[in-house]
Amino acid sequence: MLKTESVLIIGAGLCGSLLALRLAQRGYQVTLVEKREDMRTVALSAGRSINLALSNRGLKGIKRVGLEHKIEAYCIPMLGRMLHDKEGHTQLSKYSGRDGEYINSISRSGLNKILLDELDTFKNVDLKFNHSCVHVDLKQAHASFKTADSNSEYTIEADVIFGTDGAGSVVRQQMEKERGFLFSHSQNFLTHGYKELTFPPSAESEYAAEKGALHIWPRGENMLIALPNQDKSFTVTLFLAYEGGLNNFNSLTTAESVEDYFKTDYPDALALMPNLGTEFFENPTAPLGTVRCDPWTYGKALLMGDASHAIVPFYGQGMNASFEDVVEFDDILEESNFDLKTAFKVFSESRKPNADAIADLALDNFHEMKSHTAQDLFLEKRKLELALEKEFPKEYFSKYSLVTFSEEVSYKEAMDKGRAQDKAILGLLKHHKLNGDQSLRDQLTLIQKVSQQVLEGELLFEV
Ligand SMILES: Cc1cc2nc3c(=O)[nH]c(=O)nc-3n(C[C@H](O)[C@H](O)[C@H](O)COP(=O)(O)OP(=O)(O)OC[C@H]3O[C@@H](n4cnc5c(N)ncnc54)[C@H](O)[C@@H]3O)c2cc1C
Repeated sequence: MLKTESVLIIGAGLCGSLLALRLAQRGYQVTLVEKREDMRTVALSAGRSINLALSNRGLKGIKRVGLEHKIEAYCIPMLGRMLHDKEGHTQLSKYSGRDGEYINSISRSGLNKILLDELDTFKNVDLKFNHSCVHVDLKQAHASFKTADSNSEYTIEADVIFGTDGAGSVVRQQMEKERGFLFSHSQNFLTHGYKELTFPPSAESEYAAEKGALHIWPRGENMLIALPNQDKSFTVTLFLAYEGGLNNFNSLTTAESVEDYFKTDYPDALALMPNLGTEFFENPTAPLGTVRCDPWTYGKALLMGDASHAIVPFYGQGMNASFEDVVEFDDILEESNFDLKTAFKVFSESRKPNADAIADLALDNFHEMKSHTAQDLFLEKRKLELALEKEFPKEYFSKYSLVTFSEEVSYKEAMDKGRAQDKAILGLLKHHKLNGDQSLRDQLTLIQKVSQQVLEGELLFEV
C-alpha cells in the first residue's frame, strides 16, 4: 500500500540506501540524494574502506529487505583472528567456540551497488546522484542542493528528512547550529590514523595468505590488519600514530624508511607487498574518530548511521550498527502505527544508549587488538572462552560473541555483561583460581558467580 508521506533521505551510503529500500517497501514516496556520482557508472574510490566485516546485526538488516541471497556470493567467511608475530609465526584464534559463527569480509562498493540496484526496481523511489546538500530547514523538512556542474541551488520539499550523510553530516551541523546548547555534540579523534595497502594475489593467482581469517599483526602501539577480497587480493590496513614513537606517519617520508619499518615490524607482510613503496605514498592517510550527539531528532528530521554515531572501526561494527538502526527504526515505526514524528522521538531515545555502548566497545577493542591479543593472559582467556562456548553453547557467550553474533542482545547489554565477564575471567586467571584440575562446568559456575558480583559492584579482587 502506497503511503502519502514523502521522505527525503540525504546520503546514499550503506545506511541511507538500506533505509531507502525499507521505507520504499513500506510504501513511502522516497527521494534519496547522494553528493557523489553513481558508483555503478563511474569508478569511485570506496571512500572509507575497501572492504568491511559484516556480521549478524548487519545481516539482520539485509534480511529485513530480503537481499540475503543476493549478498551471499559476495561474502568471504573469516573464522577467526590470524595472529602474526615478528618472527612470522601465526596462530588462529577463532571468533567463537560455536559452529557456524563467523564474520564476513564484503566489498563496500559491491554491497552498496546491490542496495542501489534493488532501489531501481521501485517506482516510488527517486534516486539523485551528484547533488550535494548544502542547507536543511529542519522545521519545514526542506533541503537545498547543489550539483557538481552548476552553482545554482534548488530545494526539495518533503514531509520528513533523514540525515544519513555520514560522519561529517550537514544535517547534524544544522541541528548544532540551530539548537546551540540544547544539542550535545562531540567529535574525538584518535592520535592514530589509517592507510590502506594491498597484498595482491600470489604468482599462482591465489590468495597470498589464509583466506578464511582476519589477519592481525599486533605490535603494541600500532598494528596491521588484512581482510580478503573476492579478486584474491587482501586489503591491508596500517593503524599508526601520526606522531611520536620510533615510527609514525609523519616520520615515514621515504620509500627506504617505510621498507625499514615494515622489515622490522611486519617482515612476513612485507614479503607479500610488492607495491608497498608506491602505495604508501599514493594512498591517503585518514583520521579515526568517534562522533556522539543527542538528541538525534529535531523538527521534522532524524539522524541515522554514522551521522549520529560514527565510531572507530576496531569492532567491525559501524556499518552493522547502522543497519541495525534501520531494523530498529522499522520496528518502532510499526509499533507507532506509522506515525513518523513519534517514531523519530522513540528511536532517538531508545537507540542512543546502544550507540554509546558500541562506540565505547570499539575504543576498548583498539587497545585489545594492537596489544592484548598477543599477551599470554589474553590468549589463555580466549582459549578458555572457546572451550566454554563449545561445551555449553547455550549457556556461555563471550563479549565478542554477544556483540558480534547476537541479534537479540542489545549493544548496551552486551557491553555490561561482556565487560563483567572479562574482568571476572582475567581476575580469576591472574589469581590462579581457574585451572585444568577443575571441570569446565565448575569453571563456568565460578565465572558466572564472579561476573554477577562484578556486575553488582562487589568485585572480589583487583584485576
Ligand atoms: C577504515 C574503516 C573500516 C571500517 N570497517 C568496518 C567494518 O569492518 N565493519 C563495519 O560494520 N563497519 C566498518 N566501518 C564503519 C562503516 O564504514 C560506517 O559505519 C558506515 O559506512 C556508515 O554508513 P553511513 O551510510 O551511515 O555513512 P557513510 O558510509 O559515510 O555514507 C554517507 C553518504 O552520504 C554522502 N554524503 C555526505 N555528505 C553529503 C551531502 N552533503 N549531500 C549528499 N550526500 C552526502 C556520502 O557521499 C556517503 O555516500 C569502517 C570504517 C572505516 C573508516
